Amino acid sequence: MVALDLRDLAKYPFLKEAQSFIAANTASLDQYFESSAGRLAVKEAYDTVSASIRFNPRQPPEDLSEVPSEAEAVRIIISAYPASRLLVSCSGDKMLIDRLCRYQSWRVYRYLQDEDPKKKEVIAASLGLSGSSTKIPVIQYIEIASRLTDDRWRLVNRVVEKGIVRIHSDEIDEILRERLRVIMSQNLPLKVPPSLCISLQPVIDRIKTTIQERMLEEFGSVEESAFPPCIQAIIAALVQRTHLTHMGRFAVTAFMHNIGMENTRIVELYGHVPDFDLSKTMYQVDHISGQGGSGTEYTSPQCSTMKTHALCVHPDALCKNITHPLTYYKQKKRMVTVPKKKAGIVGSGGNIPDKESAPADNSDKQEKRNKVRGTAMEEGRKNNEDHKEDNQA
Ligand code: SF4
Repeated sequence: MVALDLRDLAKYPFLKEAQSFIAANTASLDQYFESSAGRLAVKEAYDTVSASIRFNPRQPPEDLSEVPSEAEAVRIIISAYPASRLLVSCSGDKMLIDRLCRYQSWRVYRYLQDEDPKKKEVIAASLGLSGSSTKIPVIQYIEIASRLTDDRWRLVNRVVEKGIVRIHSDEIDEILRERLRVIMSQNLPLKVPPSLCISLQPVIDRIKTTIQERMLEEFGSVEESAFPPCIQAIIAALVQRTHLTHMGRFAVTAFMHNIGMENTRIVELYGHVPDFDLSKTMYQVDHISGQGGSGTEYTSPQCSTMKTHALCVHPDALCKNITHPLTYYKQKKRMVTVPKKKAGIVGSGGNIPDKESAPADNSDKQEKRNKVRGTAMEEGRKNNEDHKEDNQA
């Protein structure tokens, strides 16, 4: 069997050989992270996690660099892999964990594309697959392909013979990438000693700041005219004092929080409700936005959940191509803000009964308020167990 060198371990740090290398060269993680090399590894891990927040998870990362030739630099890259897993585990943020798994698996995919076939076979074998076979047992195929959204991965579009699924040779790397992502996801979060998390907390805080910055880049100021039909319908129901289900209230509150609206503004939405109770509403909004007891931030339900609860109302043409109201909002916002900027039009429109609605030319103020508030979250960042939302926005 072909031997892997140190640079290979830097490209594929999930391999047992890489973990053995770290174990052989590191006394304890606490001590290592105190050393100058350990601090560099944590810095590298921070860069990796930051890149995972910013990259487009539907395509390979653009920042993939050559593995350096100096042994110490290679060792830092290998050590950064477990360090990055510790960081996301300590953060307790499921979205961050998912992001890291996607980013790491895409990186591996990029390296695999130019890999020596013999080495690729070793990598594939470590994942329980072959690097050259175009046949996969159907059960394994389903596990791997179930999260791949492209129609070509659907079993009905595959040749299946005697429990074996055929894939094309140029799809093998994609299968390996997805298999790796699944394994990584299953193994995270790690159980990290609290003392280690405390020592990593300053880095975790920086990661959280990066997430907030990313969220602001993504959503920016609130653009009411970009609200999806379902959210507009719920707001209309609130204004008309129509009875709203618990899920309806949850959906609109989480949505508003996810796009960066301040809690006080969200509470004002409920001012028209006949049984409006300020302290109770404040409590519920704080709870959903993560400012209450558990600190968990909730994500608004995806379209399928909205449909199940009869909250998907008057879907329009844009709805055909999205699976989450937040995705609708992002796409629609792009469509409505660009023409406005070009035409120099101000004012936000929309239908929130709020005299303090942020106009389009007030985005800086709004963004500053969002920053101060410090709780704005990225879409899908907390996948809450109670509501069991599968974030796919
Ligand atoms: S398809 Fe989704 S975004 Fe569109 S109205 Fe229905 S729930 Fe809302």
